[in-house]
Amino acid sequence: MEYVKLNNGIEMPILGYGVYQVTAEECEQCVTDAIGAGYRSIDTAQAYGNEEGVGNAMIKSGIAREEFFITTKVWISNAGYEKAKTSIEESLEKLQSSYIDLLLIHQPFGDYYGSYRAMEEAYREGKVRAIGVSNFYPDRFIDIAENVEIKPAVNQVETHVFNQQVKPQEIMKKHGTQLMSWGPFAEGKNDFFNNETLQTIGDKYGKSVAQVALRYLIQRNIVVIPKTVSKDRMVQNMEVFDFSLTHADMDEILKLDQGESLFFSHYDPATVEFLVGLGKK
Ligand code: NAP
Repeated sequence: MEYVKLNNGIEMPILGYGVYQVTAEECEQCVTDAIGAGYRSIDTAQAYGNEEGVGNAMIKSGIAREEFFITTKVWISNAGYEKAKTSIEESLEKLQSSYIDLLLIHQPFGDYYGSYRAMEEAYREGKVRAIGVSNFYPDRFIDIAENVEIKPAVNQVETHVFNQQVKPQEIMKKHGTQLMSWGPFAEGKNDFFNNETLQTIGDKYGKSVAQVALRYLIQRNIVVIPKTVSKDRMVQNMEVFDFSLTHADMDEILKLDQGESLFFSHYDPATVEFLVGLGKK
């Protein structure tokens, strides 16, 4: 495994396992399988409803807690100092751990400055090893990075070959913030797994489209957390450290960048209304 060093000096695996859309029922087994395949970094969230499954799998593995790197996120309905503070305690309980490795604000809506203050407090109390944000595009990212005491260690945003976040990554770097990708396969959108450019490059190395896509992000120093419920694909997605893409390969893949989301825009009023509405539920 390779690691990135976050802005407070702690190390985070560059590749982990994401559990979005893994049901509460299947999560414990999936994370157990992922641990068996060698994953130690797990990305969950309060909103996924499966933090307990992650905690159960971690405990039952018998592997020391320090071997793991657990990320979770404060959901919009828990925005604000008091609610976020309570929700951090709930996450710790569900994860069955005295600390969280990385805690993120899930979405930049509601009183997220209040949430961030609760997270800074948890960090100082040793309940969290690093704090950061998710889905903070340059406008909101710069604002929060400039106005908090503890700079975000990580910003987790949609990042894959069709939406590469080149400029936002430069802006994050200026603030010492690590880019972490969500949706490294764009959840299969845009016929991802049949992409000709990725397939042609993969054929040269005996690697799959998925492996080339992950390798590309890793070579750009982006943390990846692919999700799969299949044991074989868990193994496949881990086997990305035994080959390297050339500059020419990297340049070809850069051309796939469309510079916009394949999911939704945080600048679209309808999306904002939808997400803000979720916070009121
Ligand atoms: P993703 O990892 O881009 O794609 C997952 C899809 O790819 C699944 O349908 C999976 O199918 C398939 N797949 C995985 N490996 C494959 C392989 N080697 N070959 C072919 N198909 C493969 O999507 P994601 O789950 O949205 O993103 C990853 C993680 O990012 C999430 O789990 C979550 O932890 C995080 N995330 C965060 C946010 C946020 O707002 N912060 C949003 C979305 C996601 P099978 O499961 O059937 O194999």
